[in-house]
Amino acid sequence: MYECPVYPMVTGYWGHKYMGGIGIPWTAFIAGGWEKAAPMAFACTLCGRCVKFCPMQIDTPKIVEHIRQKLWKMGYVPSGIKEMAETTEREGKPY
Ligand code: SF4
Repeated sequence: MYECPVYPMVTGYWGHKYMGGIGIPWTAFIAGGWEKAAPMAFACTLCGRCVKFCPMQIDTPKIVEHIRQKLWKMGYVPSGIKEMAETTEREGKPY
């Protein structure tokens, strides 16, 4: 979690018992639920640093991508992200 560029910015906010990126699936599946996991899942940059430093090589960004897809289908998408996606689809650019 100390290698994650996002975690230090949101300390105390990401994860439940497991902090950092791995806290996203933990929150979604075990503690908290999908709605609580949504802001965390969409804050992850998918940079992959956690995979590089994980002793078990857990592919957290891949897991987060799957969680995002499920969250999108469920409608648990932060409004700013949804607006950016719609603008990108409509205008061909996010702004
Ligand atoms: S992929 Fe996500 S959880 Fe992993 S280090 Fe990057 S921002 Fe953090």
